[in-house]
This record gives sequence, C-alpha cells and structure tokens, in this order.
Amino acid sequence: MSIFSKGRKAYSIFFFKCPHCHEGRLFINPNPYALRQLYEMPEACEECGQDFQLEPGFYWGGMYISYVIAAFILFGTFAILLFGLGVEFRMAEIITVVIVLVLWPVLFRLSRSIWINVFVHYQGKAPW
Ligand SMILES: [Zn+2]
Repeated sequence: MSIFSKGRKAYSIFFFKCPHCHEGRLFINPNPYALRQLYEMPEACEECGQDFQLEPGFYWGGMYISYVIAAFILFGTFAILLFGLGVEFRMAEIITVVIVLVLWPVLFRLSRSIWINVFVHYQGKAPW
C-alpha cells in the first residue's frame, strides 16, 4: 500500500480530497491556477457531509504551514542554485522568487489541505 493510496493522509493532502472520506473535493475548482476560484471551498463535503469550515477563521492556522513550506522551498532552491549549480547570487535570488511565486497557488491549497488533515481523520464514507 503506497502512501498515496486512499485511506492515507498523503492521498487527501496531495490530491486535495476530503480528509474524512477521501472522495469529495476540498476545493470547488480542482485547478489551483484558476486564481479567481483559488480560495473557494465547499461548506461541507458533497460525499460524506464533513464540515470544511471547522470554526470561524479555521484556515488561519494553515498560514503557518504555508510559511514553513515556502521557507524550505525558498532556502532549498536558493542554496542549490548558489552552491550546487554555481548560479550568480542576484540570478539565484530572482529564480528563487519566481519559483515561489509560480508555486504559490499550490502551496496555498497544500497548506489548507495539511491543516484540515491535522484535525480530521479518515473514516471512510460512514456517517459520523
Ligand atoms: Zn467527505
């Protein structure tokens, strides 16, 4: 059983699926680059009814996740470019910022997906 198979946290996190049933979509538009709908999530899972807004301002906590992931990518990419590939300092800065900006919509959704998975666990489609 792979870590990306249904029933595992990674499946829900990386495929943006409901953490409770792993079937319903966490975001209305599955494409994170449809920026107008980036934030739009259903109120609850269309498959099992799991509430996606556990409390008002629930996803503020996801910002910490986003911050940590972005910092890892930022410093990791910068270090690889600068020390691994010998790219000039200024160019490494620009490339790193561009990579983070391009990945930002995915990071945003990933952080929300991780955050809700901290609190909601897989229980299949059974009522809760
Ligand atoms: Zn569900």
